[in-house]
Formats: sequence, structure tokens, C-alpha cells
Amino acid sequence: MATSVSVFVCVPGRFEKARIYTFIGEGVVSVNPYKQMDIYGKEDINAYRGRELYENPPHLYAVADAAYKAMKRRAKDTCIVVSGESGAGKTEASKYIMQYIAAITNPSQRAEVESVKNVLLKSNCVLEAFGNAKTNRNDNSSRFGKYMDINFNFNGDPTGGHINNYLLEKSRVVQQNGGERNFHSFYQLLRGGSDDMLKSLHLHNDPANYVYTRDGAVATTSYNDRYSHNAVLSALNVIGFSEEEIHSIYRILGTILILGNLQFETDRESVLVVGMEDVSHIAELISTEPNNVTKSLLYRTVATGAGEVIEKGHSEKEACFGRDAFTKALYERLFGWIVSRINAVIEVKDYNPVLHGKNTVIGVLDIYGFEIFDNNSFEQFCINYCNEKLQQLFIQLILCQEQDEYKREGITWQHIDYFNNQIIVDLVEQPHKGIISVLDEACLSVGKVTDTVCLESMDAKLGQHPHYTSRKLAPSDKTMEFHRDFRIRHYAGDVTYSVEGFLDKNKDPLFQDFKRLMFNSSNPVMKEMWPDGQLSITEVTKRPLTAATLFKNSIVALVEKLSCKEPYYVRCIKPNDMKSPALFDDARCQHQVAYLGLLENVRVRRAGFAYRQAYTRFLQRYKMTCEYTWPNHLMGTDREAVEAIVTQHGFQDDVAYGHTKLFVRTPKSLFTLEQERAAL
Ligand code: ATP
Ligand code: MG
Repeated sequence: MATSVSVFVCVPGRFEKARIYTFIGEGVVSVNPYKQMDIYGKEDINAYRGRELYENPPHLYAVADAAYKAMKRRAKDTCIVVSGESGAGKTEASKYIMQYIAAITNPSQRAEVESVKNVLLKSNCVLEAFGNAKTNRNDNSSRFGKYMDINFNFNGDPTGGHINNYLLEKSRVVQQNGGERNFHSFYQLLRGGSDDMLKSLHLHNDPANYVYTRDGAVATTSYNDRYSHNAVLSALNVIGFSEEEIHSIYRILGTILILGNLQFETDRESVLVVGMEDVSHIAELISTEPNNVTKSLLYRTVATGAGEVIEKGHSEKEACFGRDAFTKALYERLFGWIVSRINAVIEVKDYNPVLHGKNTVIGVLDIYGFEIFDNNSFEQFCINYCNEKLQQLFIQLILCQEQDEYKREGITWQHIDYFNNQIIVDLVEQPHKGIISVLDEACLSVGKVTDTVCLESMDAKLGQHPHYTSRKLAPSDKTMEFHRDFRIRHYAGDVTYSVEGFLDKNKDPLFQDFKRLMFNSSNPVMKEMWPDGQLSITEVTKRPLTAATLFKNSIVALVEKLSCKEPYYVRCIKPNDMKSPALFDDARCQHQVAYLGLLENVRVRRAGFAYRQAYTRFLQRYKMTCEYTWPNHLMGTDREAVEAIVTQHGFQDDVAYGHTKLFVRTPKSLFTLEQERAAL
């Protein structure tokens, strides 16, 4: 079976000939060409519009069209799941899909539909500015997961949508790996903002001036910050952000940059902020008094056991930790607020199903792929868990969908053995026993629980699990170097995680004083971002949900959303690590083929039928290739006519006849027919 996988993606020459797309069933595999391709123009859109799969060469548009047709013709909610590792081309693919849908809808150019389409398309520009960054793997890497629902009316025209975002990598705000950058938004503002704007924000235009952006300031990138700044401003305007809102966004970016430069010093026991001018600039930007800023930076309010409320001064280290936690939270809330603000604009309003017919949805998921780095931490753990969930969904949906269809059509289903990764999903998420639950317990327990203590309790609880091991449990295993290492045998391969920092990242603490500072801002936009700042210290829940649990809940909700839709898959492959249009690294591609589950996908399709079509439609397309059906239909039923076509072309052993559809095992038979048809 491994050869069949090689056949479709790794055929030598296919990539070189710029054939970047390949079908598996109704899904498509896409290999990043790393160069501009002339295959997304108007003519290409027209070629795929309303056509059946296999009538044209493989293309993203064919999948987008299939999802759209199913939604429109059968009033089905559908979703397109785009997956692949960083730099494989997921975001580009999602954008082409959205552009395709925008291009084929609203032929009558109704103004309100055009405006919805415009906002949907423009939202990409804004989300990329605030959620993407240059990494060593991709100059424009999405540092968040995105799921977007597009709503359609009974005409098949977009009426609105909704965006969900997942796990923004906020640690990037304060620190980036060598050669990487902070989020694009900071460089865009500094390099693209007008002198007046920067002056009003108390900023200098060189990113090298700021601790948070200075390392990334020298990173070379194909990304044009100056140009993008104007594009983002114009997108914000088109979407409908008010002047006040736009100013507030940039004031928050300015606040973060200035906060990042703040230092603390200890003067006889007490900790002080160095540079009061910066403090007053921050106070001005977030519309409060300098005194409030200093207080939040240097003290925290705590409730004693006796119900007393006291102010406790930070140590220098605590003040730095608090400042960084604050800037990360400021950025995360800003991003979340931007998403919700876009949602408020595109939300479907006044839709009456009785008057307007069923409101259907196409969901597009562009989410981080499986990650194995040299050092894997809490973020990789969450991302890989998310991929286990999506793989589980893939198994269920693809197998169930096939099974249902064969049953409905009266075709015998041949059961296929596949690895069911539910066991790994359980390892991570099971209540009381799973890794997340052990982590949460460690975070919530009183007293000093360290990462290592937490690892010990994972060992104790999960030591027997076939997909879990640790350095302590397997001392002879040289792949785990350190005592703090543990390893999960994921469906996509083994990943060794370092438990260091897990507890802090899971707890994700932010002093209530910062929340209150922002809630008390006289800027209404900022206040709106911090509603929990109104709680006094005695009202704050002692046990807020941890980062892992919040993430788990959001992924469970995502899976629920996806599982009630008809899925279409776009599997993106990264051909090499040099961003080169000329290099196809076989080993790298084979590995991705394996962990994207393409092997299973092909197996399932191979055991079943790669292609199916209603008799009427099949007949309509191919009747001219057979003497019994052309020029006159001499057979009784459509099914008999289709049988005549199949027999005349000699592929009767490659098909099965369902109640309403013809099932064809291999695409080869179809290609023969297509060629014959084209030659007529
Ligand atoms: P990440 O997970 O890091 O966000 P990604 O899978 O979303 O990665 P993209 O940002 O979509 O990756 O693609 C990376 C780069 O590859 C793009 O910036 C572009 O240069 C190139 N690329 C991807 N797809 C295409 C395409 N279809 N045509 C031309 N270039 C492409
Ligand atoms: Mg991306």
C-alpha cells in the first residue's frame, strides 16, 4: 500500500511539472509550489464552477466547488478541513477557497451580499497582521488556529459568517527564537505608521528600539511591513472599525512596546520602576493615571485567609514576570476582541428560515498541523492533542460516510483495518486519569508543586499506558535526554516533551491588579476587553480554568461543530525546508504522507470506490461515447444505459451498481472515458 501513496504524491516529475494538486476521493493533496502559479485566474474559476470532480484536473477549486454544490443542491452543511505542517500552504489554500466561493456567488451583484463577501475576504488581512509572524519555517506563519463558518441563504449567496480562533501563541509577544519575529502588527506599525501617528503613540519608528521587537528587527523576511500597514488600515475601515477603535488598537500595541522596555530596580528593600516618563506615556495610552500604572506594576492585592485585603510589593523578578504576563494578556485580549468585532459585523442578522429558506454553512478550518521540534513544550503538546482529535474525527467521518453511502446504495462494504487513535486521545483528555487532568491537579494543589513533581505523578498514573513513557520509566531509551522528559507515541510519530514550564503555562497567571487597571480605563474600547477586571480580589474565583482545559474545551466544541458537517479535506505538503520551488525532498514528503493519515485515506478509498455518480448525471456526460446511448438512448432505464457504456468500454470489473449511483473503483476508468469524450 505504501506504493499507492507514493503514486499520487511522490511521483517523480509531478512537482517539477507544477502539478501541485492530486485527488484522494473528494479531497485534494496540495504540494506547496513556492512560486506564483498561473492557475487561480478567472478562466480557472469558470472551468471548475458547477462541474463534477474528475471533469477537470485536480485543483483546490474542485474541492471548494464540491463542498459548495453539496451545500447548495442538498442543503447540507459542509466543511473544508485544511491541514498540514507549518509552511505547507494551509492559509494560502484557505484564502483561494474563500476567493473561489466569493467569485462564484451573487451573480446578480446584490450590494448587501457583496459587502458580506468583502468583509469576509478583508478579515484575512487583519487576522494575518495580528496573528501571523515570521518563523524559521514560514515567513508568514499563522500563530493561531482558525475556523470560519460562512453562512448562505437558499440562493447559495453568502449572508454572513463567524470566526473562531484557537490558542494564539502569545508567548511570542515577549520572546522569539533566533531568526524569528514578533507578530507582524508591531513591525507594520513602526515601519508603516505615519510620523504623526507614531508621535501620538510616543513611539520611534525603528523596531530595534524595543526589547520585544529588536531581535526580530534584523530578521530578513519577504513580508513588506510598510505596505501591509496601509492594507490593514484600509481593511479595518472596510470592515467597519470606528476611528476610536482603530486608535485604541494601535494604542494597545504602543503600550505593549513601551511596557517591554520598562525596567525595575531595587532600592533598599523596595522595587521601583526605572523611567517614569514611560509610565506616563503608558498611562496616557491606556487612559488612566500614571500612579495606577506604577501601582499595578509593583504591587499585587491579595486576600488573606482571614478575609483581609492587603497590598504586597513585588520582588524585581516578580515585577518582570508580571509585566510580561500583562503584555501577553493585552495582546491576546486585543486579538480576541478584533475577532469578536469582525464577528459582530458578519453575524447573520434577521434571518428568518420560514421566509428565507434553510440557512446553510460551509466551514473552513485552517489549523496548526502536527509539530515535532527539537524542544517540544506545552504549546506542542496542545497542538498535537488537537491533531489527535482531528485525526479521530477524520477516521469517524471518512469511514462512517463511506459506510453510510454503501449501505444506502446496497453495496457490500469491505472492512478496513486502521489504527484507531482514540486510545491516545484518552491518554490526554480522560477525566481524572488523562495528562491534562494530572496537570490541572498539580496546578490547583496548594504548596509548591514543581514541574518535576508533576511528571512523577504522570508517571505514577500513566506509566502503564502503551502510548506514554518517560525518561525515568525507560532509562535506557536514549531518545529522552533529560529527567524532565516524557514521551507520547502519537499516531503521527513519537514526540518527546520537556515538562519544564508546563505548570506555569497551564496556570497562566495574571495578577488581578492588571485586569482592574484595564477595566478602570476611561477608554471604552479597552474597558470592554477586560470585563473581569470589575471583580474585587475577594470575588475572584480561586480556581479559574487552566490553559490546557480551556484549550481542550474549545477543541471539543470545534470537533462537535465539524462532526455534523459533510467534510472535504485539503492535505497540504511542504516539499522541502528551504522554501524552494525546485526541490522535492522525498523523505520529508513520505513522512508527511504518513502522518497526515493519507495512507489510511487511500486504503479506505481503495477498498471502496474512488468515484461515484448518479446514473442520470453519468449518462448525460458520457452518453456520446457509446453506440447504445448515442445519438439515441436505446436502453430502458438510466442504469441499463450506464451498464451499456461501462461494458462497451470494458471496465465492468471496476464498478458496482448502487440503487441510484454508479460506483467506480479506480479513477483510471473515468480518465479513459474523459479522453474519449474529449476526442469526439
Ligand atoms: P503555518 O502553519 O505556518 O501558518 P501554512 O501552512 O499556513 O503555515 P502558508 O502561509 O499558507 O503556510 O504558506 C507558506 C508560504 O508558501 C506562502 O507565504 C507562499 O509563499 C507559499 N505558498 C503556499 N501555497 C502557495 C500556492 N498555492 N502558490 C504559491 N505559493 C504558495
Ligand atoms: Mg498559516
